[in-house]
Amino acid sequence: MSRADISHYEAIVIGAGVAGIYQIKRLADLGVQATVLEADGDLGGTWYNNRYPGARFDSESYTYGYTFSKEVLEEWHWKEAFSSQPENLRYLNFVADKFDLRQYMQFNCRVEAAHYDEDENLWRLHINDGRELTCRFLITTLGLLSIPTLPKIAGMDDFKGRSFHTFDWPHEAIDLTDKKVGIIGTGATAIQVIGEIADKVGDLTVFQRRPNWCAPLHNRKISEKEMADIRSRYEEIFAACNRSPGGFEHEPDRRGFNETSREERWALYDKLYDEPGFGIWLANFREIFTDDDANAEISEYIAGRIRQRVKDPVTAEKLIPKDHGFGVQRVPLETNYLEAYNRDNVHLVDINEAPIEQITANGLRTTAETYEFDIIIYATGFDAITGAYDHIDIRGVGGETLGDKWHDGPSTYLGMFVSGFPNLLMPSGPQSGSASTNYPRGIENGVNWCTDFLEYIRSNGYDRVEATTAAEERWTAHVTRMYSTMLMRKAKSWFTGYNSNVPGHEQGKIRYFVYNGGTPKYVATINDVAASGYEGVQLSNAAPPPPA
Ligand code: NAP
Repeated sequence: MSRADISHYEAIVIGAGVAGIYQIKRLADLGVQATVLEADGDLGGTWYNNRYPGARFDSESYTYGYTFSKEVLEEWHWKEAFSSQPENLRYLNFVADKFDLRQYMQFNCRVEAAHYDEDENLWRLHINDGRELTCRFLITTLGLLSIPTLPKIAGMDDFKGRSFHTFDWPHEAIDLTDKKVGIIGTGATAIQVIGEIADKVGDLTVFQRRPNWCAPLHNRKISEKEMADIRSRYEEIFAACNRSPGGFEHEPDRRGFNETSREERWALYDKLYDEPGFGIWLANFREIFTDDDANAEISEYIAGRIRQRVKDPVTAEKLIPKDHGFGVQRVPLETNYLEAYNRDNVHLVDINEAPIEQITANGLRTTAETYEFDIIIYATGFDAITGAYDHIDIRGVGGETLGDKWHDGPSTYLGMFVSGFPNLLMPSGPQSGSASTNYPRGIENGVNWCTDFLEYIRSNGYDRVEATTAAEERWTAHVTRMYSTMLMRKAKSWFTGYNSNVPGHEQGKIRYFVYNGGTPKYVATINDVAASGYEGVQLSNAAPPPPA
């Protein structure tokens, strides 16, 4: 019988991205009858969808891979320090095929609704193909940034050229030679695209609402020799990731900001800026995240680097953020981004000075000028973290919708449970340790914990689990409190749930969905909860006792 003919499972996983692939591996090993439902045509999640030029890791490749299989670590050769989308998708396919995981996956399967049936103690799922599936445990691995958001600009349907969100970049190659291209947005995605295509297009106009701090990626090839060395150090590398707050190999500088001289600090900034990856952000002084003076200093330093790299002083000033400091939003890592603005074919338009009025048949019109384009790229971000949950009609006990419960922001227990929604497990949910970390490091912790939890309840004869309201309130208050020490609370970014294209997600209404305590603290906490016999989770057996 094929998976498509089975209508009841012990567990259904929604989403076959980085987290879903590992989750199904663990469930299969445990002998749980399970399937993964994936809306896309194939596995890969983020790395299946984001095919825009320049899409690549901002994590060191060798810290991004799964750690669960020594064989995979031995066999896979990361070709670049920050590997690109095609290679990342190949990696996920390599892992899935190696463990024959496709047999558990159903593609083009969008879950439209998931309702908890109290009488039967199971979840009823409605799929876009008309099927109804049931399961005892529903496991969501929906991705953090899987719902792209478009701006609402008059005339968007009138454009006669090609236009798309970066997430929906066409799968077939697009010839950009001699094309006139407009791009809206200057977040991490746009910064990768712009650096990559500036010298390949005819003409590129960037429409910037707010500049974003960024830092150089310093990518490089990884030779066979270097890969052999990395393989020999994997244990050490992953141990460093586990020690660091962000799950990266970059660990914060332990000297206090105020215990060092300005010269010493500047020397550190110089060193980190010229090194690969997130060091300038995460191996810096911890105070840059919490202290206005420390943050002002690193911002001044990075502004100086922008002025050095961008030749036109007016353009350089436009590229320096004024409304937030360095590092309080996730830092985009770039290759040739700032240098792109030194090219004659690249133009920066500040849409605060000249707002976009209309997309026209041939391009767009601002209050100051009319532009003609062959292609318009919307690099306008995502309905982050809770967006993917909002897109499924999820109902718990008494028909309460998750959308209503989370209307003003999520509330969870450990980022993994929601009270009123029994048998729903979120290995990488809002307020879990995954959102603010090197994602695979975060999800491995979440998936391992959820799977161990399932093993525990199976072997102890429970079949209904639900977080208590008190535990949920305690956790949500804890997550909320941590924001009060972080400068990120002042920034307009997806870390605070800001998205001008989603009603209700304006600035000032913080949605507390990122756990800011760091990986070691999160892991210690969830391990303590497990050791306590899952304190905060009501475990019971809802099924009628078997006949005597
Ligand atoms: P983003 O950071 O939210 O940036 C969206 C951009 O679009 C911002 O510049 C925003 O301006 C602009 N924008 C949105 N709506 C607009 C509108 N209606 N009119 C004009 N401009 C508008 O999204 P993203 O760049 O896709 O990045 C999101 C996250 O994805 C990153 O923070 C990162 O975590 C992840 N990412 C990772 C990598 C990687 O290297 N692995 C690469 C790309 C992305 P405002 O700032 O003014 O809102």
